[in-house]
Amino acid sequence: MPKLARPPEEVWPQHTETTLFAALSAGHLVVTATNRLARELRGRFARWNMEHGRRVWRTPDILPYATWLSRSYQTIWSDPASPDVPRLLTPAQELAVWEDAVQQSPEGRRLLNAGAAARSAREAWQLWQEYCLNEEAIQAEAGPDTEAFLGWAAAFRDRCRKRQWLDSGRLPRALRGLLAQGKGDIPEEVTLAGFDLVSPMQQELVQTLSEAGCPVWVLQPQEVQSRVACVPCADARQEMDDAARWARELLEESASIRIGIVVPNLQAVREDVLEALEAVLEPERLLPWGGDTPSCINVSLGGPVAETAVGRCALGLLRLGRTTFKTEDFGALLRSRHWAGGESEWAARAELEAAVYAVGEPQWTRTLAEFFLARHGETDCPETARALHRFWARLDDLPRKQSWSQWAETFGEVLRSVGWPGASGQPSASYQAVEAWQECLEGLEQFDQVLEPAGYGEALQRLEQLARETLFQPESGHHPVQVLGLLEAAGSRFDALWVMGLTDEVWPPAARPHPLLPHALQIHSDMPHCAAQRELRFARQVTHRLSTAAPEVVFSLPQRDGDRELQPSPLLADHPRIARDELLPTTVPSLWEQLGQAAEPHWELDEGAPALVEGTRLRGGTGTLKAQALCPFQAFGRFRLQAAAVRPPEPGITALERGNLVHKALETFWAEMQTRERLQGASAETIAATARKGAQKGVEQLAERRPMTLTGRHRELEEDRLTRLLEQWAARELERTPFAVVEREHRVEASFAGARLRIVCDRVDRLDDGRLAVVDYKTGEIRVSDWFAPRLLEPQLPLYALLAETEVAGIFVARIKTGHLEYAGVVGDDQVHLRCRACESMKANAEGLTWQELLEVWRGLLTQLVSEYMRGECAVAPVEEKRSCRFCDLRSLCRLTDRKRYPFFEHDGVDPS
Ligand code: SF4
Repeated sequence: MPKLARPPEEVWPQHTETTLFAALSAGHLVVTATNRLARELRGRFARWNMEHGRRVWRTPDILPYATWLSRSYQTIWSDPASPDVPRLLTPAQELAVWEDAVQQSPEGRRLLNAGAAARSAREAWQLWQEYCLNEEAIQAEAGPDTEAFLGWAAAFRDRCRKRQWLDSGRLPRALRGLLAQGKGDIPEEVTLAGFDLVSPMQQELVQTLSEAGCPVWVLQPQEVQSRVACVPCADARQEMDDAARWARELLEESASIRIGIVVPNLQAVREDVLEALEAVLEPERLLPWGGDTPSCINVSLGGPVAETAVGRCALGLLRLGRTTFKTEDFGALLRSRHWAGGESEWAARAELEAAVYAVGEPQWTRTLAEFFLARHGETDCPETARALHRFWARLDDLPRKQSWSQWAETFGEVLRSVGWPGASGQPSASYQAVEAWQECLEGLEQFDQVLEPAGYGEALQRLEQLARETLFQPESGHHPVQVLGLLEAAGSRFDALWVMGLTDEVWPPAARPHPLLPHALQIHSDMPHCAAQRELRFARQVTHRLSTAAPEVVFSLPQRDGDRELQPSPLLADHPRIARDELLPTTVPSLWEQLGQAAEPHWELDEGAPALVEGTRLRGGTGTLKAQALCPFQAFGRFRLQAAAVRPPEPGITALERGNLVHKALETFWAEMQTRERLQGASAETIAATARKGAQKGVEQLAERRPMTLTGRHRELEEDRLTRLLEQWAARELERTPFAVVEREHRVEASFAGARLRIVCDRVDRLDDGRLAVVDYKTGEIRVSDWFAPRLLEPQLPLYALLAETEVAGIFVARIKTGHLEYAGVVGDDQVHLRCRACESMKANAEGLTWQELLEVWRGLLTQLVSEYMRGECAVAPVEEKRSCRFCDLRSLCRLTDRKRYPFFEHDGVDPS
């Protein structure tokens, strides 16, 4: 069994930075643990040369470990004197071979996600090689999962042997063998930098180098005398804001300072961290014209090519070549400026996108898209429509299957045919992203060597995978603020370092032994993540390294995550605590505050829209009055500005559509049944047949609008569900006193308080004494208290009751939802409904108003709502934020969030809307 991993500096001689740079000048090799350390050492070497008065110097040979292995191996492979050396697979090729091995196995055929299993198997294989495990030892302790893995590994090895391939897992051993045979170039001297731990395989490789006469050194970690402090922060958001303010204060003192900000789980919070830093460090970049100015921040983990604007656009276009594609992807594509019509037709395309979503289908087919473009696109967005027709026509000419390099060529060609990547003169980041995309296409070509020819769908799937896995980091100038992950900080040095988020849940990390290797063997080999003890030891080492990586080190400790209390990592217990105010005595103003301070602000109070003339028709009917009651700005935004969010449709039937289904089904049901008396006398079969008829009518109507969603079995299930619901509801109707349904989905045009409006009433019943009962169907919650609220939050039925020509005895809401079948209402007397008490004895009626008095109160409140709206009153004043804003689309327009975040919105008691 190989020795356990251990830090190299205990074993090998050490270079200081100065002796290392002298060695680099002499052409010696440095191998680093991470890409980022290689970059940093190159920068430090350049500065060292300049400090020594040099204007030119030899390019240093500094390589990350994986790059050095592959370079050394490729040199031997390309030497004609070594004809039998196997070809080294690229990571994507390697994964494709693993996927094939997994998919062809009996276990793999039973898996839902063979791709994920292939990734896991590749990881286990690499650990196996890196920790020099013995196959018999693995077999001896194998459970069912390890058995399956051993089968996949054998199949993978077999494929590689037959085709003369080599994978990255076995690369170090293969290189070691070749070097021992005297092949390849042995470096004169090599230095290892930033290796917290060295695996047994790395040790063996180093041993071979030593035996071949190459001295191996390690770079001595430069520990500085640090001032370390822990500072508590309310939560993760405050931590990011504080780190940004701290960095800004340091940058204001010295522009040449190097600041590190270490973030655990950086990939997940990358965008949040960047936003917080930009808001304080370079707020000008938030301005519309500031996006292309050079940034002082570098986030070490680049984003995937698939997430860049050009990458998203290219993949979105290619997805249109599939039989079906997501509506959301189609909509996003219409927003992209990176293809034909993106600049010239952007406004028309925004309307087209809204029209696409309005269709309501979450999936589209090419036929639907072509029909839609012929109807809407060709006149409004001719360039867009022509490009898409060209694109589809080109795809029609393609063979069903072709080689991977032919697919790479086809994809490049069809993208160019639709004008991708858009206008020239792009900012350099976009230009570099296009180059990164070309690398993905080159990666696709390489599948020729490992995979059979494929069809469009498979080729696109592989390209999407490559674009997701290829990280893109635009190269641009000097970045004094480096944001990096916990493990990337290995060997790096800063002038000041901020480490965030080390709570006891995060640090030390929990053990995560690999699921495909025997646990006991992992512990015995001291593999990464194998046990809590191993994680603790490693975390201690990293914490010590971070604590000595800069003269000033701050660990910030978030105290809450939502409602949860957080505790600091016990590994920070020895570091002194300081208060936030002590660390950040001055307050850095935000962009808005800076803009506000730039000149004497001129405040203008404008919370009124132009008044409407008498007799104006209210566009949203009683919906306008409801919005006015909830928040005047909501009514103004929705019905005068006609502002609404554009959202891609969700899969299945929406809550609104479900409600409409119930309305339509009940309308048909009561058109047949007509009275309570008839319902009472009807047999169970008659009621069931009438309910089924109503359900079919409702589903039929919805299916006309949603043909792709309501098909076959889904349609049957929806009809059955609705039929059962109507049958159950029919039993509830018998709890009422006798009635006849006289109006269904009744629409009335009326004038009220100087405005004209339409009132829609779901149902009107005539009682035995000739009075009316007004009914509204709902699938959501019922709140009778809304009819007694000071702003009359449900104005529809009260207004109908006031305007009806015949006396109205009561108003009801009927809640018709599976498991919730109930009537609730306000009635004048006990004769209207067997279960409803008269108005004055209702709990919600705190003032004990009689029915007639209540009608008069409603008249006053409705008059007030109409008058406010007609006067143009549009203050941002939600009556109850939780309720008013819950389903409101206008947050970005009313700037509710900004109002809370930036208190200067409230100026001298004036609310500048
Ligand atoms: S989000 Fe709230 S405050 Fe803003 S307009 Fe809508 S209801 Fe009013």
